[in-house]
Amino acid sequence: MIELTERQSVLRAHAREWAQELAKWALDLERTPDLVHELLDLPGMRFLAKFSIPEEYDDDPITLDGHSFGGGGMERVTICEEFGAADAGMMLAAPGPSMSGVLVSRLGSQAQQELFYGRLAERPTWTFFALTEPERGSDAGAMQTTLTQDGDRLLLNGAKRFIGNAIRADVGVIFARVRPGPLGVVAVLADTGHPGFVATPIPTVGLRGNQVTDVRFSSVEIPADRLLGAHLSPSRRGLLGAVRALNQLRPGVAALGLGIARGAHDYVRAHRRALTAWERAELDGIGLRIEGVRQLVRRAAVASDQDDPGMGPLASAAKSRAARLAEDVTLRTLDFFGPGARLEHPLLDKYVRDARGIEYMEGTRNIHHLNVFQGLSQGTIVRR
Ligand SMILES: Cc1cc2nc3c(=O)[nH]c(=O)nc-3n(C[C@H](O)[C@H](O)[C@H](O)COP(=O)(O)OP(=O)(O)OC[C@H]3O[C@@H](n4cnc5c(N)ncnc54)[C@H](O)[C@@H]3O)c2cc1C
Repeated sequence: MIELTERQSVLRAHAREWAQELAKWALDLERTPDLVHELLDLPGMRFLAKFSIPEEYDDDPITLDGHSFGGGGMERVTICEEFGAADAGMMLAAPGPSMSGVLVSRLGSQAQQELFYGRLAERPTWTFFALTEPERGSDAGAMQTTLTQDGDRLLLNGAKRFIGNAIRADVGVIFARVRPGPLGVVAVLADTGHPGFVATPIPTVGLRGNQVTDVRFSSVEIPADRLLGAHLSPSRRGLLGAVRALNQLRPGVAALGLGIARGAHDYVRAHRRALTAWERAELDGIGLRIEGVRQLVRRAAVASDQDDPGMGPLASAAKSRAARLAEDVTLRTLDFFGPGARLEHPLLDKYVRDARGIEYMEGTRNIHHLNVFQGLSQGTIVRR
């Protein structure tokens, strides 16, 4: 069993309180995603806006009961489970370094990190991470967005799809191709204010707070010093950088799914007091399944914190199990309220819709099953 340390328990207690406070606006945020701008002064939003900014770039880091939090995997899954249980959409709507931060920390030069984190430390700033393209989601290696040299300028052309927060972001990471082949992909740090950058929201069934968008780039000029990992060999930047960043963040997405399942389970316990013996047994069984997935998610987070070679397949196993858990549990909990459940219990209906989004975020189950198979066949993970 992987239990939380005292420090992590402090974080969990605060995250639970913040997430529950923010969740009062869960249904309003779905209807009006811009509402997030009015919630920025709440402690949970202030924490998320700064979470994982390295201390050297932040003069005023947030501390809790004397502890500071650098953004490690176990810290991330602890927060994500609490926000998932209250409102995953709220967490995904928050400003902060998020996925881009992981890539900037891994690939960015000192100057790029100062530029990126300096801005984020100054005021709540949204970021985005643009990898997926229309018709090329799971097969990211087939991307067609290009970065070309035009005299001493770099020009970005192409399109991305399902990019969270791009409509409200100031800055983010975009993947593009400089030449054919897997080593021909690079990542750049781009401002959304550049002419030729157009983001359009896509209506979604769940996780609406995240405001996923279509993004188009028409000859967007990228300053040459915004190329990430220019000091690294081609094999250590670009797509490999994306894979490593996603491996590091995936336990967090898994924890959001775990949280959604827990939130739906807690909802039944709070709203259906007179349970039959059969229903009690059913709920207890769901609780055990949730605990099993929690342990897998924590194992993946620990592997990520230790840079373990098995972290990729473990993160895939955790994400795949958690996405399935979220779907199964949310659908199952509807049965506790009869045929009108989705109309009469809008929050439960929201859990069901949000769970479906977890399946797609950061890769679908089928793709993660392939990663797990590869880990088992290469021996980076073993069956227990
Ligand atoms: C809420 C949300 C937020 C997101 N945020 C971002 C973001 O910030 N940045 C970003 O870049 N992307 C983001 N995405 C996009 C996400 O990463 C993609 O949706 C995901 O990679 C799947 O791609 P796709 O939607 O094109 O589906 P497809 O790749 O078209 O897959 C469709 C189906 O085919 C199956 N399939 C595909 N290939 C194979 C294969 N080889 N073997 C077996 N089955 C296969 C899949 O499992 C799936 O069931 C987000 C998505 C969601 C839902």
